[in-house]
Amino acid sequence: MTLFEEIKNRLDIVDVVSSYLRLQKVGSNYRALCPFHSEKKPSFFVSPRLQIFKCFGCGKAGDIFKFVMEIEKVDFKEALKILAEKAGVQLPTEKEEEDFGERARLFKICELATKFFERQLESKTGKKVIEYLLGRKINFESIQKWRLGWAPDTKNSLVEFLKMKGFSIDEIEKAGLCFKKENGEILDFFRGRIIFPIFDLNSRVVGFAGRVFEKEGPKYINCKNTLLYDKSRVIYGLDKAKKEIKEKDFCLIMEGYTDVILAHQEGFQNAVSVSGTALSEWQLQTLARFTSNLLLCFDADFAGDQATKRAIDLAIQRDFQVKVILLDEGKDPADIISEDKEKFEKATKEAISIMEFYLKSFISQYDKNTLEGKREIARKFLTEVKKIPNEIEKDFWISLLSKEIEVSKESLLKEMEKIKLEDEFFGKEKEEIILKSDKTKREILEERLLTLLLKLPQNLVLIDNEKMEYFSPETKEILEKLKEDLKFDPKN
Ligand SMILES: [Zn+2]
Repeated sequence: MTLFEEIKNRLDIVDVVSSYLRLQKVGSNYRALCPFHSEKKPSFFVSPRLQIFKCFGCGKAGDIFKFVMEIEKVDFKEALKILAEKAGVQLPTEKEEEDFGERARLFKICELATKFFERQLESKTGKKVIEYLLGRKINFESIQKWRLGWAPDTKNSLVEFLKMKGFSIDEIEKAGLCFKKENGEILDFFRGRIIFPIFDLNSRVVGFAGRVFEKEGPKYINCKNTLLYDKSRVIYGLDKAKKEIKEKDFCLIMEGYTDVILAHQEGFQNAVSVSGTALSEWQLQTLARFTSNLLLCFDADFAGDQATKRAIDLAIQRDFQVKVILLDEGKDPADIISEDKEKFEKATKEAISIMEFYLKSFISQYDKNTLEGKREIARKFLTEVKKIPNEIEKDFWISLLSKEIEVSKESLLKEMEKIKLEDEFFGKEKEEIILKSDKTKREILEERLLTLLLKLPQNLVLIDNEKMEYFSPETKEILEKLKEDLKFDPKN
């Protein structure tokens, strides 16, 4: 029996797939939201009898190997490794494994570097780092679990160590761990920093973040994107949180690495963080595999942050239920968790919906008793309401707004009609929104043509008087004005 067959015999596709997504039993099969394309109704099916998966939306189908290759974005060899480990099948020996290509080499470098950084905690400065972490309430167990380490403040001790282990400067640079100065000198990328290794969904180290320690400099730096590490395709802590997220059916999204570590330490093991406060399309799609409920735990002034707002809009468009945990002003989630666990627990239970949060903050910004205040609150809040895809939800928020600012629902609905949403959705969504509008196909095409002509007026020459007759009177008028304005002679 080949390794391939042995793994297939030992693993059940339902177990493999459900370690990545929430499966729902329907008859003798299982279904889920497809992880490979964006959808709102599940068309992704798993058949335990045939041991295959198939998506009727995007057509992706195959066995466990195909599934792992697709979902982990890896080649066959890498999928074989992941599944062999799951199946408890003996992996090829170290020597054979070395030929597995560049990715495997980079994984090795990252693993060795992690061990190197961990060991440096035993040094003199390393001990101070431990003191510091303990002072931040991160205990020994967490330091080990999250494999925190110390990058010594030397020129290139990591590079020297990795060279000794048989890796070239070129490979170390590709792993994001060193760089060449103009004068040709090679420096470790992380020097004098506390190291937070970043893991993929299988808990393999793919990259690093370094926090400044006893020195000047940016608080955190991340290694540049590599073959293994892409900032927008990482969710810190998800490898350790995915099980709990699925069980509790919600995900706590926090701002920083230490927030996540402390949350897990204190029993909130469904916490993750994304770099910065923006959520990428990939991150949302990945989270959707585990839950559709997001609980944001950012600090107080995040609502003003455009990137965050955009991410929230995107999450809502993706049918996530988004809630916000309100924290005392000026406090980090980390402070609250380590000072008073019960208080944090209570805050998660009292999380308010994102719409409620918006309404609260708009009402606090303007005086709802003045005409001007009512108008501003309504305009801002209705802009958010208009983005909600669900009509019942829309109605709910308009009723609430109507009560809060004492304006009739009818007037609010009329005002909402007038609001034009910014063009803030990407690709496919944009098409969907246009198609959902009540414009005719002709109107849409005319509008598009006008947009193009306004951008590139020289193309007006393509529309001569004869073709003018194809357009609606309104568009015709605009086109004629445009030609006049540009003193354009169509005969030339
Ligand atoms: Zn699909």
